[in-house]
Amino acid sequence: MLKNDYVTKLINLESVKFKDVDIQQDEIRFLVTSEQGVGLCPKCCCLTSTLVDVKPKVYRDLDLSGRMCLIEIDLKRFECKGCHTTFSEPLSFAASHRRYTRRFEQQVYECCQETNASYTASKFGINDKTATEIYLNIARQKLEQQPYLSTRVIGIDEIAMHKGHKDFVVVITDLTNKKVIDVLKGRKKAALDTYIAGWSNDFKAGIQYVAIDLWGPYRSVVEAMLPNAKAVADRFHVMQNLNKALDNCRKQAKRESKDEDIWKNAKYVVLKNREDLTDEQAKILDKVLTASPELKMCHEFKESFRSIFDSNDRESGSKELSSWVLSIVRSGVSKYYTFVKTLLNWEENILNYFEERVSSGFVEGVNNKIKLIKRKAFGFVNFENFRIKIIDCFS
Ligand SMILES: [Zn+2]
Repeated sequence: MLKNDYVTKLINLESVKFKDVDIQQDEIRFLVTSEQGVGLCPKCCCLTSTLVDVKPKVYRDLDLSGRMCLIEIDLKRFECKGCHTTFSEPLSFAASHRRYTRRFEQQVYECCQETNASYTASKFGINDKTATEIYLNIARQKLEQQPYLSTRVIGIDEIAMHKGHKDFVVVITDLTNKKVIDVLKGRKKAALDTYIAGWSNDFKAGIQYVAIDLWGPYRSVVEAMLPNAKAVADRFHVMQNLNKALDNCRKQAKRESKDEDIWKNAKYVVLKNREDLTDEQAKILDKVLTASPELKMCHEFKESFRSIFDSNDRESGSKELSSWVLSIVRSGVSKYYTFVKTLLNWEENILNYFEERVSSGFVEGVNNKIKLIKRKAFGFVNFENFRIKIIDCFS
């Protein structure tokens, strides 16, 4: 084999031939030529061999033995005889108008996916903006090419982008395949309607359960748009509701209490599952419950409510739920009346949980990732980039 052929093999780029190499202390520049003698007109698809000019173009490639590696190619420009369009020959190793090889961009993409843009930028010796741009470009292409996988269970969740603000995004997750289907801006019902209307009938028909929080408009969307789906009020969201009522009770008891000291750290102790408390936390709990008989009762009912979800099936779940509601009414725990109203309004959906025990684990993972992305900022100033990053992370 000729020496040149060895180097061509070493460079390992399709349809180019090695011509020369320039080795500097921290840079290797390979000069190559393409083997194509003709070009295909992008406008009318005619083959042409009429050369306009040949100009060198440089592409950044993956480092070689610790040196920055550049590929310089004599790029041919053709003119189409049919329509007189001039065009550069397409290269398989780099997209047109790019200054990086595909394999270089792929590594930048993977590094961004695992870390963030700033780290990637410094590792590859490019700037943050370029790293972000390369990442988004590839992620967007992947998204466009990704077919909809059929799924049986999805989740609709909303997340506040900034704590205390009402700038929500709606995250639609595929709980069967553990993917993020999409992220929508705002939580307007109309936007969700329009979005779901865009799904194919097959995809919609395959969905059997949709986990939602206790928000009426979401339930209406599921009922109206997904013919075979049942809305499931999942355990996590129901408990969240109950905990809010319990916490209100704690706040009032604290306000009415003469002993302020006992309420220190009481919030999480009251909300936490009793069996998970440390000895010290159990002591705090005992103190505050002794101080407020009403809180004590609310706490006991919270604990007994949790076990409803351990029922084996819909029927026994339904019985447990009814008897819990009845005992709230009988005991006159007025702090829970609003919650009871919610329960009755959502009874069907809560009982659907016993058919499909959706777990909030995956959604929680997604939420954590979103927080991380927000914190690292990642150079994402706009929503669209943020959306792509989220979907790409779970694709
Ligand atoms: Zn043409």
